[in-house]
Amino acid sequence: MRTRFAPSPTGPLHLGHAFSAMTAYDLARAEGGTFLLRIEDIDQSRARPDWEAQIYDDLHWLVLDWPKPVLRQSERMEAYNAALDTLWRHGLLYPCTCTRRDIEDALSAPQEGAPLIGPDGLIYPGTCRPDQPLQGPRPKGFALRLDVTKAVASLDTSTFKETGRGPHGEVGDIRISPKDLIQNVGDIVLARRDMGTSYHLSVVLDDAYQKITHVVRGEDLFEATQIHVLLQRLLGLPTPIYHHHRLIRDDTGKRLAKRDDARALARYRAEGLTPTDIRQKVGLTTPSATVR
Ligand code: GLU
Repeated sequence: MRTRFAPSPTGPLHLGHAFSAMTAYDLARAEGGTFLLRIEDIDQSRARPDWEAQIYDDLHWLVLDWPKPVLRQSERMEAYNAALDTLWRHGLLYPCTCTRRDIEDALSAPQEGAPLIGPDGLIYPGTCRPDQPLQGPRPKGFALRLDVTKAVASLDTSTFKETGRGPHGEVGDIRISPKDLIQNVGDIVLARRDMGTSYHLSVVLDDAYQKITHVVRGEDLFEATQIHVLLQRLLGLPTPIYHHHRLIRDDTGKRLAKRDDARALARYRAEGLTPTDIRQKVGLTTPSATVR
């Protein structure tokens, strides 16, 4: 078993991150497996070395450890480009010049009942989608979208195994519906203009590269999993088992966010709490020491 924790170094880790990291760590340790850490720093405009250093510090304080060196997504652009080239050659990508405003305007008169927001934000109305497959080399300097309708045409019946739970209690074999992907997800951006990649593409390639067998993460990413399985099929990658977990919320029921400094682990540390206190706070009672 290989699990991972994949934070972005864009702010302090909070109780929700601690819960996710410890859940992944405990699962791997219970099976004699390996827990990996991956730094998801593709957004170089927001990633900061001091946040990355703080991540190592906080996780060590929680008595977690992982093999070194740690994989950083910013060092994996070559792999992301190769995957984009493959998808481009198969005619599954197209450049998009729409701004968020353009998309909002195009969606301002949606068909009745059509959803506006999917797991990747606004569902793209297809403004830049070409009628004919595009020829030639992959264009640079543009956002690239996946033509989901074309992509699902090559998809046979797809499922993934959920061993945690989705936001509505989903567990077991989860079926992916091509119709849902077209209607409720739409043509997602796989390469952002400013980054040259995207969360979805990078996470799928890196989970495969690091041979992750169990993806442990918050239930807020459950809906995104259908995108990840689609990409795995298109790129010939294995589908890991998914283990989504509940989210840690504040007293008002709101999920914790990075800017929620009050719940930052560093703050609890400064106040003298111990890793065992943190485990208790998030409802994990087994201290990591006994799992080892
Ligand atoms: N970097 C992502 C986050 O911090 C990780 C998502 C995942 O685990 O797939 O939310």
